[in-house]
Amino acid sequence: MKYYSTNKKAPLASLEDAVIKGLAPDKGLYMPEKISKLPVAFYHNIDEMSLQEIAFVVASEFFGEDVESRKLRDIVYETLNFDIPLVKVTDNILSLELFHGPTAAFKDVGGRFMARLLNYFIGKCSNNKEVNVLVATSGDTGSAVANGFFRVPGINVYVLYPKGKVSEIQEKQFTTLGGNITAIEVDGTFDDCQRLVKDAFMDKELNDKMFLTSANSINVARFLPQSFYYFYAYAQYKKMGYEDMPVFCVPSGNFGNLTAGLFAKKMGLPIKYFIAANNRNDIFLEYLTTGSYVPRDSVQTIANAMDVGNPSNFARIIDLYNNNYTDICNDIKGVSYSDDEIRHTLANTYENENYLLDPHGACGFQALKDKLENGEHGIFLETAHPAKFKDTVEPIIGQPVEMPKTLKAFMNGVKITDELPASFALFKEYLLGKL
Ligand SMILES: *Cc1c(COP(=O)(O)O)cnc(C)c1O
Repeated sequence: MKYYSTNKKAPLASLEDAVIKGLAPDKGLYMPEKISKLPVAFYHNIDEMSLQEIAFVVASEFFGEDVESRKLRDIVYETLNFDIPLVKVTDNILSLELFHGPTAAFKDVGGRFMARLLNYFIGKCSNNKEVNVLVATSGDTGSAVANGFFRVPGINVYVLYPKGKVSEIQEKQFTTLGGNITAIEVDGTFDDCQRLVKDAFMDKELNDKMFLTSANSINVARFLPQSFYYFYAYAQYKKMGYEDMPVFCVPSGNFGNLTAGLFAKKMGLPIKYFIAANNRNDIFLEYLTTGSYVPRDSVQTIANAMDVGNPSNFARIIDLYNNNYTDICNDIKGVSYSDDEIRHTLANTYENENYLLDPHGACGFQALKDKLENGEHGIFLETAHPAKFKDTVEPIIGQPVEMPKTLKAFMNGVKITDELPASFALFKEYLLGKL
């Protein structure tokens, strides 16, 4: 399958090029040339299939032309070695728990899949070069990418993060691994880290000497696999005996997760409509209300993984709908919540339903409470485990939050980092020193 750029000013790319480059040369986002409907029989039997079986069918649709079937099967099965259960919270609201992976957030799925696909393409290259993945993080992305790529042969990962500005749990998840993962503590802000990474991709000498690539969420290998769990959610929903089409509610930042859901719907998955749940960064809701899209600087909230002022996947949504505003509004509704509302939902749901949400999932749950019509059922994506946001969640519920085993193990690890000032000249010297 070929991939085109949403800006339509770059040549078509192979899957390999799209994965290795990430962004198209015209700065657009890559899109698969075709999105086919899956056979009706698949949907008939879906409730009898496992997560891995379902994911392999969906993955074959996207990647089957470019990756041998046996290899693709291995990649899918290794990526999804944890469950993604659908849990009933109220009579009409269910939670898709995406936090049972190694770093307790949904980004594990895309991170693990991309690492394995990249490794496959490197293995095919005759010169067998080592690939260096550079990633700047404000917390969650670094941990998912580092753990996804951990011990994958032929790949070195450099995680750049702002010193003293990520939570202890997040920091432990990418500074304690060692091996092919190097954590760089930058004396600066997240924006400084992002600038160092961007400058490195632009630097001719570095690129001539080292093979550099990025692992951010615009990459098709991180984004497309996120459609797998919409199918698996539906399979569990059907198995539970529901016969109607569910509404999916997605706590959104860069809108990669929601866009993957739109792809699933295009492939014939019975979804009534979507709700994009936002915190106070509500640029998308404003677009749905007014028809005009006006990016602005993000504001800081307690659901910080959604603090995005110019969602990168907006371009994919526009492209998918041929810029038809009416069709977009028919398929996606929007809501936005303040920090106080998020706190309120989190406390109430814990008290009344005995279900502990994280601040992002709280937006998703509340949106379904507010928007579902009589007779409708909704599934929200619980995007991370509440223990990842312990410092926020514990004061709200007035109790300690139990940490899952996987997170606890990270807390016991020893932090090892290289420290650098926010200077590109020194970062470049540092990278060349690794040769
Ligand atoms: C990344 C993230 C989001 C936002 O997902 P997008 O695909 O960027 O919209 C929501 N919740 C959590 C916990 C995240 O880590």
